Amino acid sequence: MATIIDGKAISAKVRNEIKEEVEKMAVKPGLAVIIVGEDPASQVYVRNKAKGCEEVGFYSEVHRLPEQTTEEELLALIEKLNESDKIDGILCQLPLPKHLDEKAVINAIRADKDVDAFHPVNTGKIMIGDYDFLPCTPAGVMRLISETGIDVSGKKCVVIGRSNIVGKPMAMLLLQKNGTVTICHSRTSDLKKECLQADILVVAIGKAKFITADYVKPGAVVIDVGMDRDENGKLCGDVDFAGVSEVAGAITPVPGGVGPMTIAMLLTNTLKAARLKGKK
Ligand code: NAP
Repeated sequence: MATIIDGKAISAKVRNEIKEEVEKMAVKPGLAVIIVGEDPASQVYVRNKAKGCEEVGFYSEVHRLPEQTTEEELLALIEKLNESDKIDGILCQLPLPKHLDEKAVINAIRADKDVDAFHPVNTGKIMIGDYDFLPCTPAGVMRLISETGIDVSGKKCVVIGRSNIVGKPMAMLLLQKNGTVTICHSRTSDLKKECLQADILVVAIGKAKFITADYVKPGAVVIDVGMDRDENGKLCGDVDFAGVSEVAGAITPVPGGVGPMTIAMLLTNTLKAARLKGKK
């Protein structure tokens, strides 16, 4: 039976570390979160992000904009937040309503306030290994791996998924830690064969319980990034937890694995942004 990697406990540890640092600061780090429209999942994420800020003692602002907000209005708000001394980090919750151009919005957030690390300057910096911020979900995965005492160096790592926010940066971070990395996607010709090679398997597909025990090498570390709904509408991951935990050496559950780490890493990035601006 696999060791369960407890993302809730590790994220609580990270948040505590941040809280202790913030208590010593004269000027608190500030995060602005923008949400456009009424998407229920996004509303939950934004509430949790605001709650996370409150818990560690950050200043935070939530800007709730109506569905019909124009791009001009949204960009004007970002511009104002770019100039605000109170605000160190800006996050615009994605996805945006269809009439808004996500690329233009991501590009508008100043790179030194881009705590999601989606701006091309920050994604480029990750590529060359010289970065200030790491995208929150892959950074959370790396922290889970390191807290579990697993050394990535020399390991065969397989990442399933090549999105800009999870799969691609995930692969880069594993590479920087000297893993031998394979990226798989929907056109990979023999996914099972690739997965069975993995000492560390990171799954970010978006399909409930897609990875079953027969994809997993005995003793492998399995990190499940997926946030899906099962046939009963219950939250689950991309990995069939019950079956895979019989084969894997260590595994993250859903919920309680990668999810809680994402907010912890957002708070880490915001603290870093404040420090880089000289807040003490
Ligand atoms: P995405 O943009 O939809 O990307 C999914 C990736 O999976 C794509 O690269 C796709 O390949 C690949 N894929 C789809 N079907 C496949 C198959 N049958 N075999 C192999 N690869 C396949 O999704 P995402 O934004 O990366 O998110 C992935 C999952 O992580 C979702 O469940 C999402 O909700 C979750 N997520 C969780 C957190 C968190 O905080 N825990 C944060 C972000 C995302 P192609 O490129 O070829 O289409």
